[in-house]
Amino acid sequence: MSVENAQKILKSHQLKATQGRLAVLELFMNSSKALSHSDIEHALTDQSIDRVTIYRILDCFVGNGIIHKVSSEQAIQFFALSHHSHHPGIQHAHFICDGCDAVECVDIPMKIEADSLANHPDYHIDSVTVTIHGKCSHCSN
Ligand SMILES: [Zn+2]
Ligand SMILES: [Zn+2]
Repeated sequence: MSVENAQKILKSHQLKATQGRLAVLELFMNSSKALSHSDIEHALTDQSIDRVTIYRILDCFVGNGIIHKVSSEQAIQFFALSHHSHHPGIQHAHFICDGCDAVECVDIPMKIEADSLANHPDYHIDSVTVTIHGKCSHCSN
């Protein structure tokens, strides 16, 4: 994935392509895994982007739907690129590796009947989250 792709994404959301935003977005584009705050800070240490700026960029990206939040069970907040959620009929789940705690977005060919859930007499349901547990390819070897 290239800088031009990152610039295109920012442009389509009417966001200025600052050095920090480009660096963070490229990081997500080049990662198959969801990233935590500390992953991002570590990856950007030589780019002189401070903590507060990273937090602000992540907030901005989440607000614009470019990335989404993923909660792991260790209460660590992860973030991942949002291109998965645009396929109707494909459920977007999160895989959590019980070996190394890596979090990945997974498209699974399963449709949860949101309409039937929406008519549930007792609950008002906004979204359905599916979490898959197991071992990633690295840990299962
Ligand atoms: Zn693992
Ligand atoms: Zn995801």
